[in-house]
Amino acid sequence: MMPTVGGSSYWRIKKLKEIQFGPAGYPEEARGNLERVFEILSKAGLSALEYAAVRGLRTKEDRAKLIGHLASKHDISMSMHAAYYISLASKTDETRERSKQRLVKALRFAPLMGVKRIVFHAGSYGGLPPEEAHGIIRDALQDVWDAAGKNTRSAFLAPEIAGKFNMYGSVDEIIRLCSEVDGCIPTIDWAHLYARSQGNINDRENYMAILRRFEDALGRQFVDNMHFHVSGIEYTKAGEARHQPLGKQWGPDILPLIGIISEVGYKPTFISETPEPIRGALYAKHLLEEWEQINR
Ligand SMILES: [Zn+2]
Repeated sequence: MMPTVGGSSYWRIKKLKEIQFGPAGYPEEARGNLERVFEILSKAGLSALEYAAVRGLRTKEDRAKLIGHLASKHDISMSMHAAYYISLASKTDETRERSKQRLVKALRFAPLMGVKRIVFHAGSYGGLPPEEAHGIIRDALQDVWDAAGKNTRSAFLAPEIAGKFNMYGSVDEIIRLCSEVDGCIPTIDWAHLYARSQGNINDRENYMAILRRFEDALGRQFVDNMHFHVSGIEYTKAGEARHQPLGKQWGPDILPLIGIISEVGYKPTFISETPEPIRGALYAKHLLEEWEQINR
């Protein structure tokens, strides 16, 4: 009997033993050469890649298998960002159904590609009260999981914290979703959280409070499978406006977050969504290495 965490049975795919860093999407320098993609990452000392299926998963099976083969050859941990236009609580039934099918397809392709986490945005509230939207999104995800996830258990569904207020995906909503649907883990996008909190979630105390909320609610299912997005961000009163590089000019300041990770011994995967994602991934990795050198 598996222990129960937050209402769903706890299970793990493969616990990552190291903190991983990698880009969202292929490096431009690879110019469509698949093997180059993985060579560039491993030469740079990166060990994760979030495959960008953001305009839909168009890969054929053969190519998906080749991606999986190359990822394992170069020891790169794979996640996938599913389509941007997923909208599980859409006003139209057709869009809801198509959104579910996109996630089903992502789950089916995951084992071919070595993908362990499928990151996605649940979409807007579809003009519904948040509580009603939550119920629809939860039921839709459970259907997706039952159709393509629960038998193979080869990848998690990883709904992401949304950067805009009119999008489903607050901390509370993502925690609820991950407690109520099997096979769900959160994707914490720290830039989105920074935008949603209008710049407040930007220091040690606030980072710690967020991590505690996730850990208290989801336990090991969260701790063993931490998936983060990082970048700088510009925001307005409506939330996220534009992803930006990491560093001084734009928040959030991820150094206190890196410090907590190092001290507590968490092993998250950091996916950089900066305009030059490899540069962002290397920057985050460098921060960790520097922190560990100073605090050894
Ligand atoms: Zn993100």
